[in-house]
Amino acid sequence: MVTRIVILGGGPAGYEAALVAAARDPAVARVTVVDSDGVGGAAVLCDCVPSKTFIASTGLRSELRRATRLGFDIHIDDAKICLAEIHQRIKMLAAEQSVDITAQLRSMGVELIAGRGELVDAAPGLARHRVKVTARDGSSTTIRDADVVLIATGASPRILPSAHPDGERILTWRQLYDLDSLPEHLIVVGCGVTGIEFANAYTELGVTVTLVASRDRVLPHEDEDAAQVLEESFAQRGVKLIKKARAQSVRRTDDGVLVTMTDGRTVEGSHALMTLGSVPNTGRLGLQRVGIEPGPGNYIAVDRVSRTSVAGIYAAGDCTGVLPLASVAAMQGRIAMYHALGEAVNPLRLRTVAATVFTHPEVATVGVSQTAIDDGSIQARIIMLPLKTNARAKMSELHQGFVKLFCRQDSGVVIGGVVVAPIASELILPIAIAVQSRITVDDLAQTLAIYPSLSGSITEAARRLIARDDLN
Ligand SMILES: Cc1cc2nc3c(=O)[nH]c(=O)nc-3n(C[C@H](O)[C@H](O)[C@H](O)COP(=O)(O)OP(=O)(O)OC[C@H]3O[C@@H](n4cnc5c(N)ncnc54)[C@H](O)[C@@H]3O)c2cc1C
Repeated sequence: MVTRIVILGGGPAGYEAALVAAARDPAVARVTVVDSDGVGGAAVLCDCVPSKTFIASTGLRSELRRATRLGFDIHIDDAKICLAEIHQRIKMLAAEQSVDITAQLRSMGVELIAGRGELVDAAPGLARHRVKVTARDGSSTTIRDADVVLIATGASPRILPSAHPDGERILTWRQLYDLDSLPEHLIVVGCGVTGIEFANAYTELGVTVTLVASRDRVLPHEDEDAAQVLEESFAQRGVKLIKKARAQSVRRTDDGVLVTMTDGRTVEGSHALMTLGSVPNTGRLGLQRVGIEPGPGNYIAVDRVSRTSVAGIYAAGDCTGVLPLASVAAMQGRIAMYHALGEAVNPLRLRTVAATVFTHPEVATVGVSQTAIDDGSIQARIIMLPLKTNARAKMSELHQGFVKLFCRQDSGVVIGGVVVAPIASELILPIAIAVQSRITVDDLAQTLAIYPSLSGSITEAARRLIARDDLN
C-alpha cells in the first residue's frame, strides 16, 4: 500500500524528510514537497548558508591578522575588501545549493510544487488529509489524498513595529547582502547567536560595531566562560557593548539611524541590524481547521517523534520551536518519516545536539551545560583546559579559547563539553560522539590524538578527568 506524503516547506526539515521517504520503494511512499520560496528553504537561501558563506570571507581577514606573527609581511589594511564580490558569491552559492537539492529530490522521484500550502479539513468520512496549494499567480490546486502531512514551514525574522526594516538602513539579516557598501557604524540590536555572529563578521571587515544586549552579557544562553572570551575578543577590536538595554525603537536620521532604548538611552549609527529572533511561519496554514491549536508563540507542539496532536500530521523544524538549528530540523523531519512509514525510530535527544556560534574564535557546545552542574541539577566532574598550553595552538599563534569537558561523577561517562577555538565547530565532534554513545573519559583518554593537534586538548581534558574509580 502506497503512503501518500505531502510536505509543506522545502527547508532542511522538509527536504531531508523527503529524501528519507523517497529512498523507500515507490510502492511504499509517494512524496510531494510544496514550497513557497525556493527549495532549500530559508536555511539555504537566506539564513544559515548565506551567513556562513559571509563568515568564511570575513574570517579570512582575521586569519591574515596572524600572518605578521608567523613571519609574513602582510598588512591587513592593504587587503582591499570587494564587497560586491563577497555578496555575489554568497547569493551564487546559495542558489547553487538550492539547485543541487532540487536535482537530488527530482532524481529520487519527489514531486515538487511551487506554491503556498495550507491544510483543509480532512474529507468527510475519510482519514486522508487535503492540502490546498496556491501558486504565485493565484491559481490553486488541492491534493486530496494525503495519508501523511509534514508541516516544515520554518520561521521568519521577528520585526519590532517601531523599528521596521527598510532594507537600506534598518535591516534584517536577510537584507545585508544587498548593501552596496559597508556600514560605517553598525548597531547590532540583539545579542543572541545571530547578532553575535554578524557583529563579529563586520568587525572582522573593519566596521565599527555597537552591540545592544538586553542582558548583562552576550550569548545569555551559552556557556559563561565562552561568552567571556568573546566579550574580550570584541573589546580588543573596539566593539562597544551596551548591556541591559532593550531597544524600544529604531528610526532613520538624515544620515543614519537612531536607536532608542526603553530606559531612554540612545545610540546613533549608520545602520541598524535587527536580530531579535524569529517567529514561526504558522499563520495561514489552516491549523485550526484540522484541529491543531498553535502553542505559545504560535509554534506547533510536537512530541519527540515529530507528531502533532492530529493523527497523520507531523511537524518539524523551526515552526515547532524545539531548537532552531538546521541539523535539528533535518533530524526531526527524518524522524517524522521513519515514524510515519512504520520504521524503527529513535526519538529526538536534544542533549546530544552539538551547536556552534561561528565567531572568531568559534564556540561549540554539546550536552549538559555548566550552569546545570553549578546549580546542582546535575552531578558531574568538570575540567577546563586553556588552549594557550596546547603546542599546536602556540605554533599557530592562537591565544584565546579552551576545551571544557563534563563527565558523570561516578561512571565517568562524558555528558557534555564546550570548545572555544578557531575551528571549534569541527573539534566538537569527538565530544558529541562521546555524549551520543555514552563513552567514558577513560575511553576518550585512551584514544590516540594526533600530536601536535588542538584535538589533543580533548583527550588531555579526558585524562585529567579520570578519577581512580573510573579505572576499577
Ligand atoms: C542568520 C542565521 C544563521 C543560521 N545559521 C545556522 C547554522 O550555522 N547552523 C544551523 O544548524 N542552523 C543555523 N540557523 C538556523 C537554521 O537556518 C534553521 O534552523 C533552519 O532554517 C530550519 O529549517 P526549516 O526546514 O525548519 O525551515 P526553513 O529553512 O525556514 O524552510 C522552510 C521553508 O518553507 C517555506 N514555507 C513557509 N510557509 C509555507 C507554506 N505555507 N507552504 C509552503 N512552503 C512554505 C519557506 O518559504 C521556506 O522555504 C541559522 C539561522 C539564522 C537566522
